[in-house]
Amino acid sequence: MRTLSILVLAFLSSYVYQALAAGGVVTSPTAAAPDRYVYYPGTETLGKDEIRVTACGTGLPAARRSQAATCFLVETGNGDKILFDIGTGSMANLAAMMIPYQYLDKVFLSHLHTDHMGDILGLWAGGWTSGRPNPLKVWGPSGATPEMGTAYAMDHFLKFVNWDKVTREYKITPVPGQVSTTEFDYNGVDQVIYREDGVTIRSYPAIHTGDGPVSYKLEYAGMSVFFSGDTVPNKWFVKYGKGVDLAIHESFQAPPQLVKFYNQPPQLAWRACCEFHTSPQSFGKIMSTIKPRHAVAFHFFNEEGTRYGVYEGIRETYDGPLSMATDMMVWNVTKEGITERMAVSTDDAWSVPGTARQPPPEKGRPNPMSAAINNGRWRPGFEAQDKMLDAFMKENNLEKMDWRPEMYKEMETGTK
Ligand SMILES: [Zn+2]
Ligand SMILES: [Zn+2]
Repeated sequence: MRTLSILVLAFLSSYVYQALAAGGVVTSPTAAAPDRYVYYPGTETLGKDEIRVTACGTGLPAARRSQAATCFLVETGNGDKILFDIGTGSMANLAAMMIPYQYLDKVFLSHLHTDHMGDILGLWAGGWTSGRPNPLKVWGPSGATPEMGTAYAMDHFLKFVNWDKVTREYKITPVPGQVSTTEFDYNGVDQVIYREDGVTIRSYPAIHTGDGPVSYKLEYAGMSVFFSGDTVPNKWFVKYGKGVDLAIHESFQAPPQLVKFYNQPPQLAWRACCEFHTSPQSFGKIMSTIKPRHAVAFHFFNEEGTRYGVYEGIRETYDGPLSMATDMMVWNVTKEGITERMAVSTDDAWSVPGTARQPPPEKGRPNPMSAAINNGRWRPGFEAQDKMLDAFMKENNLEKMDWRPEMYKEMETGTK
C-alpha cells in the first residue's frame, strides 16, 4: 500500500511537472489555456521598466523566405520603437507585428551593406501608404569620405526613389516621404547619438570591411541592449559590453558551412567567417569575457544543417545564457529576468491605424501626369465604376465627383 501511494505520488508529481512545462495547468477542457510560451504581437502591455526586442531579420544577404537580413526592433517602456538595421526582406516581418506606422519612424543603421539597410525602401514607401504621418528619421555613421557616409546614401536613396516620391507626394500627401538623416562620426567611442525621454543610444566603431560600421548600445530604465552590427571581435564591444543585459552580436557561419552550403571558395569562406565577420568560437569568447545577462547570436542561416555547427562552435568558448536567433524571436528584458519566445503572427498582416492621421493631398502641387497621357483614359472603363463609386461617395459623405464630366469630355468614347 505504502509502495503504491509512493508510486502514485511520483506519477502525479511528474504529471503536474509536465503540465507546468507545457504552459501551466489546464483546468477545464473549455476554458482558455494558460501561458503558451509564445508572443502574440499587440496583446501584451509593455511595462514601464521593460524592454522588448524582436528579431525581424537575422540572416544573410542571400534571400530566403524563412530568414530575412538583419533587423532588430527595440521597444522600450516609454513608448519608443527603435529599429537597429532594416535589412533586405525584414519589412514583411516588421509588418507582421502590426504596429501602427506612426511609431515606426526611427532607424539606426549599423552600416550601409544592403543586408542591413535594403528594406528601408519598404519601410519608407510601405509606411507612407499605410498611414505614417511623419517623415522617416535615419541615424547612421559617417565614412572615410563624404561619399561613404549615411547622409550621402540617404541623399541618393531619395534620388533613386524620386519618381516614386514625386508621384506619391502628389497622390497621397508629401510629408511622410521626407527623410531626415543624422550622420555621426563613426570614430566616436561611447558617443551619445540619441538621448530622449529616458532612452540613450551610444555608438562604437565596428571593424568590418571598411571604415564606417558601428555598434549601438541602447540604455533604458537601468538596462542595456548592445547590438554589434557587423564586426570582427573588437576591443570596444568587449570594453563597453561588460555586464550588459542583452548582447546581440553577429556569429557568422564557420568556413566549412560556407563552402558546403553557400558554395563559397575556401579562400573567401575563411575570410567571410573569420576575417571580416565573427566566427562562432570568437563570438563565444566575447560573451564569456563580457558576461552579459543573455547573449544573442545572429547573422547565420539557422536551420537543421547549420545551427548545431554554429552552436557547438559557440559552446567551445561560452557556456552562459544564449539564444540562437532566428526571425520573429522575441526577448523581454526586465530587472527580474530575460525571456526568449517566438512571436506568433499572421502572414496576412494589414497595417493598423494609430492615433495620428495623414493630411489630405497638398493643393497646388504640379500634376506629374501630362494631359496627353491623362486623356488616354478609356471612358467605358471609367463609366463602368460610376454606380459603385457614387454609392461609396454618398456613404462616406464625400464631395460629388464633379471632376467627372470634365474628364469624360476629353476621353475616348471607345467607339473611335
Ligand atoms: Zn556587412
Ligand atoms: Zn551583414
